[in-house]
Amino acid sequence: MTFDSFNLHPAVMSGVKAVGYTEPTPIQAQAIPPALEGKDIIGLAQTGTGKTAAFVIPILQRLLKGPAGKLRALIISPTRELAEQIYDTIKGLSYYTNLRAMAIYGGVGMEPQKSKIRTGVDIVVACPGRLLDHVWQGTIDFTDVELLVIDEADRMFDMGFLPDVRKILKCLMHQRQTLLFSATMPDDVRKLVREILKDPVTVQI
Ligand code: AMP
Repeated sequence: MTFDSFNLHPAVMSGVKAVGYTEPTPIQAQAIPPALEGKDIIGLAQTGTGKTAAFVIPILQRLLKGPAGKLRALIISPTRELAEQIYDTIKGLSYYTNLRAMAIYGGVGMEPQKSKIRTGVDIVVACPGRLLDHVWQGTIDFTDVELLVIDEADRMFDMGFLPDVRKILKCLMHQRQTLLFSATMPDDVRKLVREILKDPVTVQI
């Protein structure tokens, strides 16, 4: 399998080439086609498998089809470090697009984040607590979010973020595509999957 077989937008293909990926990893080969069809996905994969690009590539492809400058894709991450890594992958892969991303997490000032949100970003990668601060302060608008990724769901729950994730879910449109990645499938993750994913395709490596 090659990246050409996904029929990606030329700007996304240029990003893939620029970051030096030549062949999709197994998780990418399995997850990208159904994700591009708009299906919900459960991805059972650990860090190091290429899972980040497995959701970033379908996000970019989908967002390029609509108007830029509205928050249409939200990625939730359990830690700042993971949020930064995801953000870096987005920056690399989206370099040749007009899409803009930002990372939102606590431990740094709210104001610079508010200003950046106001300029119009397409993709937000966020940790749950600080994202909720923005929700309560009315500085982020989820009206246009059509694609949600929950990354490292098992770790999210181990760290006690499940209540925060549920609060965020309440603010999102029901009609959306949801991709959930997790290394393991404990009961609380399985329960969430049943509640929020619609006819999901499971991909596992
Ligand atoms: P991840 O599992 O998303 O943390 O990715 C692990 C590493 O694999 C990162 O350094 C990526 O840049 C790299 N990577 C992801 N996809 C590919 C690919 N198709 N070919 C080569 N390297 C990749």
